[in-house]
Amino acid sequence: MTKTVIDRARLGALIEAESAHFTANHPISRQLFEQSKAHLLDGVPMNWMVAWPGPFPIFVKDANGVYLTDVDDHRYLDLCLGDTGAMTGHAPPAVVEAISTQARRGITYMLPTEDAVWLGAELERRFGLPCWQFALTATDANRFAIRLARYLTGRPRILVFNGCYHGTVDEIFLSILDGQSVSSPGNAGPPVDPTLTTRVVEFNDIPALEAALQYGDVACVLAEPALTNVGVVLPRPGFHAALREVTRQAGVLLIIDETHTISAGPGGYTQSFGLQPDILTLGKPIASGVPAAIYGFSAELATCLSSKLAAEDDLVHGIGGTLAGNALSLAAMRATFEHVLTPAFYEQTIPLATRYVKGIEAAIQELDLPWHITQLGCRAEYGFYHPPPANGAQARAA
Ligand code: PMP
Repeated sequence: MTKTVIDRARLGALIEAESAHFTANHPISRQLFEQSKAHLLDGVPMNWMVAWPGPFPIFVKDANGVYLTDVDDHRYLDLCLGDTGAMTGHAPPAVVEAISTQARRGITYMLPTEDAVWLGAELERRFGLPCWQFALTATDANRFAIRLARYLTGRPRILVFNGCYHGTVDEIFLSILDGQSVSSPGNAGPPVDPTLTTRVVEFNDIPALEAALQYGDVACVLAEPALTNVGVVLPRPGFHAALREVTRQAGVLLIIDETHTISAGPGGYTQSFGLQPDILTLGKPIASGVPAAIYGFSAELATCLSSKLAAEDDLVHGIGGTLAGNALSLAAMRATFEHVLTPAFYEQTIPLATRYVKGIEAAIQELDLPWHITQLGCRAEYGFYHPPPANGAQARAA
């Protein structure tokens, strides 16, 4: 096959024409965007909403299932699904019903509800860990898990993999560039240089991990089962067994962040592949988009934690939050686990993803393109390069 060189000038003209077409067809979104510029930073409620390839974002009127309708009445097939926040589809009826009912009974009490009891038992059944706490975002679940790991081990640092993302957690924004650990490009206003708080190694590199843990100053490794935020980087065979063994030997706690890999099955990658984390964190889709997150502990950690907390003279600070575990989030989470993210959901969606991946693979082969597609349960992601990356550096370079 002859390789085609992209004609940048033609591409530029096409993008310009598309932008003009988009602007002409979205007058109400455009008007709302212009209006909101007066009072919102960059005209949007959250800065990332302008980081997309169009002159302004579409403003949403409503969303249901896999469809989204904007204020100009265009209907879209939503293949992003709130970056998995709406992985369950928009507005699943069982969750809408549960949150409407709960809202009428009150939204937050700073006291537990019966749903917490149901959830604790269900989470142990799914993920194998016996003891749970609730938070509002996956970021918070990770921040609290890291704090508790430091509290329990008395060690100052954490370790992450190059190319990771675990939310807006100060400790994770460092990268390996030219063989050096450095504060990640775009790390806005870090409290301290993250090389002081964190060690970073490449994913799938067990010798590097062993070397980084030898100093005895790392409290925990925070890892996704597969990297999913730099494209998808799958673990090599044997990686997770070695990660577990090396961390145990070094007395380092293993935190597995299942936020994106809950796509692998009802108990995430942990259940599907028999991982044995000390702490598991998870947020985003577990309440169908209502802010909610969870973090769970092994029996051993739970016992240590309870006795340490009981010995404190004061309330423990830095963990928790006024709205964490609120009744509305718990109701949404329960309805999601009970009626939406069920085994039947995965039995339907994983084969669909497999069918999609096979189709894309066939097309890539037919056209002899240097591309690849990776499946992670009911989620799939393609990359315009080949072979698939083995670590964050390769993924970033590609
Ligand atoms: N963990 C992982 C693996 C994520 O991908 C993300 C967000 N994409 C988070 C944590 C943080 O989620 P949130 O922004 O909802 O706190």
